[in-house]
Amino acid sequence: MEVLPLKDLQTQVSLAKRRGYVFQSSEVYGGLTSCWDYGPLGSQFKLNVKLAWWKAMTRRNDVVGLDAAILMHPKVWEASGHVEGFTDPLVDCKNCKNRFREDQAMVNGKVVCPKCGSTDVTEARNFNLMFKTHMGPLESEGSVVYLRPETAQGIFVNFENVATSMRKKVPFGIAQIGKSFRNEITPGNFVFRTREFEQMEMQFFVKPGTDEEWFDKWKQIRWDFYGTLGLNSEKLRYSEHGPNELAHYAKAAFDVEYEFPFGWQELEGVHNRSDFDLSQHQKFSGKKLEYFDDAAKEKYLPYVIETAVGCDRLALALLCDAYREEVTEKDGKKDTRVVLGLHPRLAPIKAAILPLSKKPDLQEVSHKLVDSLRDDFEVEYDEAQSIGKRYRRQDEIGTPLCVTVDFDTLEDKQVTIRQRDSMEQERISIDQVKSYVADKILVLRKMF
Ligand code: ATP
Repeated sequence: MEVLPLKDLQTQVSLAKRRGYVFQSSEVYGGLTSCWDYGPLGSQFKLNVKLAWWKAMTRRNDVVGLDAAILMHPKVWEASGHVEGFTDPLVDCKNCKNRFREDQAMVNGKVVCPKCGSTDVTEARNFNLMFKTHMGPLESEGSVVYLRPETAQGIFVNFENVATSMRKKVPFGIAQIGKSFRNEITPGNFVFRTREFEQMEMQFFVKPGTDEEWFDKWKQIRWDFYGTLGLNSEKLRYSEHGPNELAHYAKAAFDVEYEFPFGWQELEGVHNRSDFDLSQHQKFSGKKLEYFDDAAKEKYLPYVIETAVGCDRLALALLCDAYREEVTEKDGKKDTRVVLGLHPRLAPIKAAILPLSKKPDLQEVSHKLVDSLRDDFEVEYDEAQSIGKRYRRQDEIGTPLCVTVDFDTLEDKQVTIRQRDSMEQERISIDQVKSYVADKILVLRKMF
């Protein structure tokens, strides 16, 4: 048997559409660029990804959760530097009218249009990536608000509320999952870079002087997290930002990069943000945000170690990583089995219940089995098409187990369980299905 990995992104995009993972947004109107809708399987899968992150973060004594509003006081974005500095240098090609980012089109110190190759381009203009809207019925300068371009600021401005209400002492962190919006000039590569996306961010507040030690700890914790999700470690690496690449707020920054079909790209950023954000909010709000350290009897502005990963990017990395084609040859004929080898914790459907035929007796037993499992696992009932085709569909969507109810079941009260990866089958009693699925899947209940 030959095992082939994902050859290009388009293969994944087609599977995602065909099997209900991801659809183009507003497709009946021709679609809206860079916007995607997660289908029935994709939304469950994405929820599983978020849960894995949420639990890894908040099942610690020193991290608590938060869900802040998308719309924030406009001053937040002045303080954070986004009004002034959250810009990309934008250039127009005079030859083909293509608009692109100057920093992404530099070749040997020259700006070259990525579409037509011309160097006849306009001067760069700075383009702010924040989406602007208006709050209330009047569209005036005073009513401008922004859709947040990152979730982090909701955490910084709630630092005091959380510390006080939860009686948290530094070092501690706040974790949040939520939508962010950036008017990206060059979105693309499916859900990798979009204008509306979900972030999973954690800001960890530490005493100045202990920041480097915590930075190293979080780098390791985040690396280990990807191992628990089953991502291929050969396709993961850390890359350090050089002094010229560091953001204005950062003291140190590492990116976790994943090798997507379109190359190595950032998945997550781990940053040492120093006390930049808290000191800016203190300055702009006029409110003291210093922390009083009981033990040391001293006041200080905590430093912040940030870990920030895009949920959609991680979902894409996991889907690409899980995809494989198993090619076998029999009697000169090639057969290809497409498998999404997702970690069972992440698979949107844990077990498929498949009656061998549409006979009412088999349907009845199958429905009962579905009912007995539904409270504990995501299960699917499927009676359409041949059993072989149904197995293949489940393989393609990543379902770890298929349970087949056949004619013998009516006599011996046993069913056949088939494993997605090995395709091995075993016969077990109906009464044992629940504990069998639990054993196979919920070794993992610790995490979910
Ligand atoms: P990039 O360099 O790719 O634009 P960034 O360095 O601006 O990303 P951060 O501001 O550090 O990204 O955001 C943290 C994470 O949020 C990124 O690592 C990425 O996973 C995710 N992210 C950022 N922008 C987008 C986007 N436009 N679409 C999808 N995910 C995004």
